[in-house]
Amino acid sequence: MEENKNIKRTDVNELGEFGLIDHLTKNFKNKNLSTVKSIGDDAAVIENGNLMTVVSTDMLVEGIHFDMMYSPLKHLGYKAVVVNLSDIYAMNAYPKQITVSLALSNRYSVEALEEIYAGIEQACKFYKVDLIGGDTTSSPKGLIISVTAIGQQERNKIVYRDGAKLGDLLCVTGNLGAAYLGLQLLEREKQIYLANPGVKPDLGDQGYLVGRQLKPEARHDMIEAFAKAELIPTAMIDVSDGLASEVFHLCKQSGLGALVEESGVPIHPDAEVQAIDFGMDPITCALSGGEDYELLFTINPKDLEKVKYLPDIYIMGEMVEKSEGIKLHTKGGNIHEIKAQGWKHF
Ligand code: ADP
Ligand code: MG
Repeated sequence: MEENKNIKRTDVNELGEFGLIDHLTKNFKNKNLSTVKSIGDDAAVIENGNLMTVVSTDMLVEGIHFDMMYSPLKHLGYKAVVVNLSDIYAMNAYPKQITVSLALSNRYSVEALEEIYAGIEQACKFYKVDLIGGDTTSSPKGLIISVTAIGQQERNKIVYRDGAKLGDLLCVTGNLGAAYLGLQLLEREKQIYLANPGVKPDLGDQGYLVGRQLKPEARHDMIEAFAKAELIPTAMIDVSDGLASEVFHLCKQSGLGALVEESGVPIHPDAEVQAIDFGMDPITCALSGGEDYELLFTINPKDLEKVKYLPDIYIMGEMVEKSEGIKLHTKGGNIHEIKAQGWKHF
């Protein structure tokens, strides 16, 4: 298509991911009462009889989200499902169905696609979800996998990003930064291989970090633990873009600030060692890395007793007045502003 020279051309990078979504969707008004939550959370919420239906979709693009040089196809299929289920769990809901859409170039054989589907099947089995449809089309280059996940939960148990209250405790599951370091290791080995194809990749004993990158899991166990403990977080989001970005979303939508204790941010010992080895600060990897697929959530302090005894949950901060901003209290006793690192993929 020929571009009209008189029409203003704005680069999408000028808006960034969230600016772009806002810009494109700001004029859409919901017409249906059954649309309980639309754009702006980990998943949309639709009223459906007694239960709410929760829907989320994510796309993985070759060369952007994965690299065929180091992504085993089976893991790729598994990960494509898991990253979507994570958004359903982030609503405190249970995923039940998925659809899978593929755009593929002729570089992909039936055998390669079978591998991807073996991973999808494994994820469906483990997370007890049904594959109910999708779409398959060709693409001039590379592979695109788009997964939509559908889940359910009772109306009053769904947790949004905007429900945090002043004084709520900020908690996170698992540990942060490992998937990012796994990616750095894979990238390093790729560069070495490209420079010298005779050299075998040496990932040493960094299986944990590489595994976190290539085959992440979604925290279904946490949603089950919350239900058992009769705990409903006040706000929740999954950590896909890095802690800084997710804290920023919770704060922005809840109209609050946050104070995060560096000493409270869980970092796996392997991640700590690898970060230092790469000359990086481990906390920076946790704040800006991403792809951890852990859950970041807030609780009313009166629910502290319920959380205290749940395994793998770390209380790392507190929700404060918006005017106080989003700050990190470092181990050294300094206070730093946390900047949400805008994403730039384009
Ligand atoms: P997440 O990181 O949890 O997957 P995203 O950052 O992808 O969430 O999306 C943020 C919100 O914007 C979600 O509600 C999502 O459904 C919506 N969204 C993203 N892209 C588009 C689009 N192209 N059109 C409409 N809504 C979109
Ligand atoms: Mg999300």
